[in-house]
Amino acid sequence: MELVINNIDKKYPNGVHALHDVSLTIQKGMFGLLGPNGAGKSSLMRTLATLQDVDSGSAHLGGIDILNDKASLRKVLGYLPQEFGVYPRTSAIDLLDHLALLKGFDNKSERNQIVGELLVKVNLWEHRKNAVSSYSGGMRQRFGIAQCLIGNPKLVIVDEPTAGLDPGERNRFYNILSEIGENVIVILSTHIVQDVRELCTQMAIMDKGKVLFSGNTDEALEQIKGRVWEKKIDKHALAQYQTDYKVISNKLVGGNPLIHVFSDSDPSSGFTRAEENLEDVFFAKIHELV
Ligand code: ADP
Repeated sequence: MELVINNIDKKYPNGVHALHDVSLTIQKGMFGLLGPNGAGKSSLMRTLATLQDVDSGSAHLGGIDILNDKASLRKVLGYLPQEFGVYPRTSAIDLLDHLALLKGFDNKSERNQIVGELLVKVNLWEHRKNAVSSYSGGMRQRFGIAQCLIGNPKLVIVDEPTAGLDPGERNRFYNILSEIGENVIVILSTHIVQDVRELCTQMAIMDKGKVLFSGNTDEALEQIKGRVWEKKIDKHALAQYQTDYKVISNKLVGGNPLIHVFSDSDPSSGFTRAEENLEDVFFAKIHELV
């Protein structure tokens, strides 16, 4: 089953053009939708989750017309929104049971089985009797995944799931996501390059409502191969380098900036070839260098 999005366009009433002729084809597995804040990722995710309409375009999941047959899509959708809202003082097991009931699982023993399996899957079984409101950020996100998997969805959408998680929690979350990505379409919307690098083979880069790249991560790296150079510079020199070179990124290493610049040929002046990474592709695309 494929998810095919064709020429989706969306303007909000305030005039923001959030989605600009967006087309994507997404296969089974983990798909990373990478873009800075404001790129339009959530607008696209909410559209696919049937929570908002667009001005034009179409989206199909297999034979389901997502924009015109919302009820059918909802039966096969698992959605973890960016803002999950208020977390009640109810225990995880009771809340998940309630959510399974809302999804139509009327039979109590079947529900017990589903809820139990999901809590084990997301490593929350030991904490099942604790209130969700008392959970850490990472536990809440894992609970979010459990609720989103009720009913074996074919399309799973997770919107900015790792923002605010510490490295340990992020890793636990990655492990769970990569397991479910084996059999369904999982779209992971994120501004964190590491999320995509660690989890996804297929990806798209979005900015200002437009898709700037779509393909597999190797193809993305291929686009900048051999054209990324690095140099450790004095922090006071950064502004000058930014004027003289196409600086893709800079990060502090031991207090001084290590800059990556984009150049077809060796810029010399102490630069060395850098091993290109997804972050370079991301910034090169966003800054319209490739
Ligand atoms: P992202 O998820 O990549 O951060 P969003 O889809 O949330 O991007 O936002 C894309 C643009 O649309 C931003 O400029 C944002 O301010 C604007 N936007 C998002 N939701 C609304 C809304 N309901 N009304 C008006 N503007 C919105």
